[in-house]
Amino acid sequence: MNDALPVYDALVVGGGPAGLTAAIALAEAGARTALLARRAPYADNRTTALLGESIGLLERLGVWRRCSDKSAALHTMRLVDDTGRLIRAPEVRFESGEIGLEQFGFNIDNRSLIAALEERAAELSGLTRIDADAASIEPEDASVGVRTTTGQSLAARLVIGADGRHSVCREAAGITVRRRELNQSALTFNIAHKRPHKNISTEFHTPEGPCVFVPLPGDRCSIVWVSSPAEAARLIALSDDELAEAAEKRSHSIFGRVRVEPGRNLFPLAIERPGQYAKHRVVLVGESAHVLPPIGAQGLNMGLRDAADIADIVGKTISAGEDPGAPQVLVRYQSARRSDVMSRTFAIDIANRSLLSDLLPVQSLRAAGLHLIGSIGPLRRLAMREGLAPSWRRAG
Ligand SMILES: Cc1cc2nc3c(=O)[nH]c(=O)nc-3n(C[C@H](O)[C@H](O)[C@H](O)COP(=O)(O)OP(=O)(O)OC[C@H]3O[C@@H](n4cnc5c(N)ncnc54)[C@H](O)[C@@H]3O)c2cc1C
Repeated sequence: MNDALPVYDALVVGGGPAGLTAAIALAEAGARTALLARRAPYADNRTTALLGESIGLLERLGVWRRCSDKSAALHTMRLVDDTGRLIRAPEVRFESGEIGLEQFGFNIDNRSLIAALEERAAELSGLTRIDADAASIEPEDASVGVRTTTGQSLAARLVIGADGRHSVCREAAGITVRRRELNQSALTFNIAHKRPHKNISTEFHTPEGPCVFVPLPGDRCSIVWVSSPAEAARLIALSDDELAEAAEKRSHSIFGRVRVEPGRNLFPLAIERPGQYAKHRVVLVGESAHVLPPIGAQGLNMGLRDAADIADIVGKTISAGEDPGAPQVLVRYQSARRSDVMSRTFAIDIANRSLLSDLLPVQSLRAAGLHLIGSIGPLRRLAMREGLAPSWRRAG
C-alpha cells in the first residue's frame, strides 16, 4: 500500500439506500468516512414501506424531514386469503392503534428517499464522496486497499460492502453466499384510483404469491404483484388499460376505477444468505448481506438496521481509540446482525412456502396460524411488534 494515501476509518462501497444511510450514520458517529458510489439516476419505480425504527433512524440522521411529504402513513395492514382453495385463512387486520402507535410506518418511493439521502450526504464534512465504482478490493493486515474504475487508489481500515446482490466486497473478503431462485417474479407499478385507500395496506394472498396494494400520497397505491415468471411476463406486456383492469380485478374493486401510472419493473425473486456478515476488514450491509422475497416489507428495514448497527459499533470503537476494522469489531457486528437476519429470512421463507404449497396439511396449518393470530389479541400484538423490529432491539 502507498504510505502517502489518506486512510479512511470507513469506506462504504455502493450508493443504494443501505449504503447512503450507512455512510451518513458513520460520518455522524465520528468516523472519517468515504462513499464510493457512482452517481446515476435511480432506475426503477419501487417504493419502500419503512417500518418502526427505520423512520426514527432517518429522523435522527436529518433525512426524513427532506422527504416525509412524499410518503403515506400505514395505519392498517390487511391480509386477505385470495387463494380460492378449499381451506382458506380468515382475513387478518393489524391496526397500529392496537399497539399504541399512530402508524406502523410510511410508504415512500425509492427515488424520493434516495434524493433525500444524497442531499444529506452532501452536507457532511466528515463524508467524502467518490463518484466511481470499486474495480478491486484487497484486504490486508492493517487496512483495505481499493482501486476505483477511474483509476484512483483508496485505503480504509474498514470497508462496508453495500454493493448489492453481486457484491465485489463480499467476494474480496472470501465470503461465500447461498442462493436459491424462487421461480417467482415481482411486478411493480403504481396506480391512481377512485376510492380512498384510507391508509390501509392490503395484501391479497394468491397461490402464486402475494399481491400487495400499499398506500401512496393522495388516491394512489404502489403495487408489488408476485406471481410465476410466466404470469409476470404476461402482465408486464399488457396495455395500460388491460393492466388497470387486471389490477382492479385482483383488488376486488376495493379502490374503484384504477389508472396505471407510467413505469413498470420486474424482479425475479431469490433468497440469498452469505456464510458470514463480516470478514477480513469487510462488513456487509443491505442486499449484499440478505436478499428476501418482498413479503412483510423487511428487506430495506433490515438494511437500515445493518447501517445503524455498524455506525454504532464503529463510533464506539473510534471513541475508545481502537481500530474500526479489528477482528473484535467484526465479531461484534456479526453477532449484532445474525439473529435478526436469520430469523427474518427463515420466517419469510416459511410464509412464502406455505402460500405456494398444494399440500392440504400445510394449507390447514397456515389457515390455523392466521386464525390464531387474527383472533387472539396478545398473539396478534406480538406479531405486529415483531414485524416492526426484533423484540431484543425494542427492549434495548
Ligand atoms: C419488489 C420489491 C419490493 C420491495 N419492497 C420493500 C419494502 O416495502 N420494504 C423494505 O424494507 N424492503 C423492500 N424491498 C427490498 C429493498 O428494495 C432492498 O432491500 C433495497 O433496495 C436494497 O438496497 P441496497 O442499498 O442494499 O442495494 P441496492 O439498491 O442494490 O444498491 C447497491 C448499490 O451498489 C452499487 N454497486 C454495485 N457494485 C458496485 C461497485 N463495484 N462499486 C460501487 N458501487 C457498486 C449499485 O450500483 C447500487 O447502487 C423490496 C424489494 C423488491 C424487489
